Amino acid sequence: MKCRRCRQPAVIELRRHNAAFCPECFLHHCRSQVRRSLEDFHMIGEGERVLVAVSGGKDSLALWDILLDLGVAADGLYLGLGIGDYSDRSGEFARAFASGRGARLIEVDIPSAYGFGIPEGAAAARRVPCSACGLSKRHLFNQAAVEGGYDVVATGHNLDDEAAVLFGNVLRWSTEYLGRQLPVLPAADGFVRKIKPLVRLGEREMAAYCVLRGIDYIVEECPMAEGNKHLGYKDALNAVEETSPGSKAAFYFGFLDRGAAHFAPEVEAVRQSLGTCAACGSPTTGETCSFCRLVDAATAPLQAPTRRRR
Ligand code: SF4
Repeated sequence: MKCRRCRQPAVIELRRHNAAFCPECFLHHCRSQVRRSLEDFHMIGEGERVLVAVSGGKDSLALWDILLDLGVAADGLYLGLGIGDYSDRSGEFARAFASGRGARLIEVDIPSAYGFGIPEGAAAARRVPCSACGLSKRHLFNQAAVEGGYDVVATGHNLDDEAAVLFGNVLRWSTEYLGRQLPVLPAADGFVRKIKPLVRLGEREMAAYCVLRGIDYIVEECPMAEGNKHLGYKDALNAVEETSPGSKAAFYFGFLDRGAAHFAPEVEAVRQSLGTCAACGSPTTGETCSFCRLVDAATAPLQAPTRRRR
């Protein structure tokens, strides 16, 4: 098996691209795919500052690494979720990467700042952990970006993630979510722009990128992920991809080209109904935002002595 670009021995085959690459050309391929996403979807403007949501996993660390190599002014933000040893080890990987690259890592520890960890907060609010976690991340990433003067929040969602979420949203015809499932969500009404520069790269490519670049990352799944339905959607799509390489990309990019615009009016209607959270000032459709309601539920018995609002 020869590298498609330089004809040297290849170390990885990408059936979706009907290609194989040597180590150097594979890294070039990953950077090219990210550059193409940045350009095609107009993700980052000239001189804009980017905050990368860093979990300590392969996708976010690879993303941060590639953005820095492409000359993007990118700092990292690590959120301590309070998920026991998993959070402790994830933070260590994020810190080690930042220090190795001489990059700036901002940290927000949810238990120290708000008085609860995701497992307890989710239980108190009667939410599944990933729901409490997801809303906390969305709120705190945006808040940190606004407070730090960043223009863009970049997340490490890859093609496998996006195809799985799209699959789940189509199964349920969750039209509001379908309308928001874009590689770029423009800045509006207190939200900074959100971008997903890894949408042209799959999970396996990101793991290979980290190995070839010598990036250490947390390999274990989050213990809260058990039973997460998106893992099942990924398995189903992997089975399709196995017999029909390129299906995931065709599904996701076909949706962007021919489906997403149909759901835009619903997203706009929600945007028009946004008000301001009475507790923290963030955009919300309710009187208080879902993060403040989570904080209230999680800390009610404690009278919230450590609670931090904007
Ligand atoms: Fe958060 Fe769920 Fe991901 Fe764990 S698996 S980090 S709880 S979203």
